Amino acid sequence: MTESPLPLIGFAAWSGTGKTTLITALIPLLAARGLRVAVLKHAHHSVEFDRPGKDSHRLRCAGAERVLVASARRWAMFAERREAREPELAAELARLDPRDLDLVLVEGFKGADMAKIELHRPSLGRPLLYPQDARMAAVACDAPLPDDAPPPPALLDLNDPAAIADFIAALIDGDNNGHNNGDGDGAAAAASCMSDFDPDSLSVEAARSRVLQQVTRRTAVERIAVGEALDRVLAEVQHAPIDVPPHCCSAMDGYALCSADLPAAGDESGDEIELRVVGKSLAGHPYAGELQPGQAVRITTGAVVPAGAGLVAMQENVRRDGDRLYVGGGERTGQHLRAAGSDIPRGAQVLAAGRRLGPAELGLLASLGIAEVAVRRRPVVAFFSTGDELAPLGEPLTPGQIHDSNRYTLRGMLLRCGAEPLDLGAVADDRAALAATLEAAAARADAVVTSGGVSVGEADYIRELLEAQGELSFWKIAMKPGRPLTLGRLPGADGDVPFFGLPGNPVSVMATFYQFVRPALLAMAGEDWQPPLSIRARARQALKKAPGRIEYQRGVLARDADGEWAVDSTGLQDSHVLSSMSRANCFVVLPLASAGCAAGDWVDVEPFAGLV
Ligand code: AMP
Ligand code: MG
Repeated sequence: MTESPLPLIGFAAWSGTGKTTLITALIPLLAARGLRVAVLKHAHHSVEFDRPGKDSHRLRCAGAERVLVASARRWAMFAERREAREPELAAELARLDPRDLDLVLVEGFKGADMAKIELHRPSLGRPLLYPQDARMAAVACDAPLPDDAPPPPALLDLNDPAAIADFIAALIDGDNNGHNNGDGDGAAAAASCMSDFDPDSLSVEAARSRVLQQVTRRTAVERIAVGEALDRVLAEVQHAPIDVPPHCCSAMDGYALCSADLPAAGDESGDEIELRVVGKSLAGHPYAGELQPGQAVRITTGAVVPAGAGLVAMQENVRRDGDRLYVGGGERTGQHLRAAGSDIPRGAQVLAAGRRLGPAELGLLASLGIAEVAVRRRPVVAFFSTGDELAPLGEPLTPGQIHDSNRYTLRGMLLRCGAEPLDLGAVADDRAALAATLEAAAARADAVVTSGGVSVGEADYIRELLEAQGELSFWKIAMKPGRPLTLGRLPGADGDVPFFGLPGNPVSVMATFYQFVRPALLAMAGEDWQPPLSIRARARQALKKAPGRIEYQRGVLARDADGEWAVDSTGLQDSHVLSSMSRANCFVVLPLASAGCAAGDWVDVEPFAGLV
């Protein structure tokens, strides 16, 4: 067994099964149990950690054997292995300080002797590993195991990271009995009593991956003109039907010459050669003939290089006298030419299916002469507000009423993520009216979004109706703002449509839309959801938070006097304070296990730009 002062859990799976995704979901869940988690990941031999341009990279490339970068909050050491040698698990583990940690999750190091969890997706058609590996403590699977599979050591649901985290916690607790750190239990207990940790709630990542697993239906494909395709999602891969540029052309204003006229290699005389200018090749007006030795053709940038020519001499480097051209030394065959296909060779894949088309992509398609593209239809999203208190715009408020703001926020967010909004108005807290609107919504749309009426208040019918009319998936998520949230399915005109019952509070509506609805709508339109841009900024104030759920606080991000990113809180963080969303330009993301931060701490922020 691999020697380690810390409990180890390995993750074994065929590539593409989602090891890193699972480990990413497990870390906050384990952290919420009070466990300090390290990850040891085996990487490809040529992996680069820092980037060209970073000081650490420059120092390393200059030949430093070790580059140790240390700051107040974080440190890293870059070490070069002068000879490529596969890392050994025990030697790598020895670099971790057990005083800082409770557990190491190991990704890769396939053959190593440690307790492991196998990840298995029968749909990938790969063989099971546990029958051959006695150290496999469990198999986490996203579907039933085949009937003929040998009995698994333990069976877990791959889509339920919380259960997997429970399993790991129990496993290392067993490991730890009589070990140095008898506080495993204590730490977990402390996390649950001092925090908002709720063992029944799902992490945002786990919830989002469930949403994305449910939303498998893509919208239909339609063909539209490239000029109309901004922000649409390609349904088909695009290959280049022609070379770009379509012909060899000049990168400079100057003269096209034959290579044969250049002085022979080794000729250092520097004597000028004399050529005769026989014509010109201008953009859109190529030279018709074939260039012969002794001849030159005047050429402008982007114009076709004539047949027979082997280089372009810049006009600054030559002398012209009537039709005579004098070229000095220093010219090289092939210079200042843009070969046909040097941007995109004919037949190359230029854009993958699922690519959202921006201005560059529209131009790229046009450069290839592609006039029409197959894109996904925009998902039609029916939405409505619920609540007896809601008054429409244009009518004064009577006592107890508020204006319906969520419908306007939702409409804006739907348009921003490429959906077609279908506004079904505000519906009173009336069982029959809600039932009828839900049914109409599902019949007319690709997805249904509501706000309000999803808690357990007396007039909250949405969950109940969903259970009756469709299918209720879950509704507790370890995030703030955002609880409660109902997700499910409703029978539509053409199969089930996903349903998102967002909370009523206006900030919760935006936060949950951004985490769950937007990724789902992108997926329906065929685009892969990518984690949003996240940057580190210094918190200008202390931020209050209890561990146990991730918080999306509102902040104003700006550069401070030193040019560093700094974030100001918008103040009151209650979920009804919609003005905080409007004042903010970013979410300050405080992770599940965080107990808040002090002024001056680094925090992660997700800028709003381009998202909500
Ligand atoms: P509910 O989930 O229906 O209990 O609503 C929670 C809170 O959000 C209540 O204070 C509601 O008044 C408020 N709310 C619900 N719907 C809207 C809406 N469409 N616009 C503004 N506030 C709303
Ligand atoms: Mg309500």
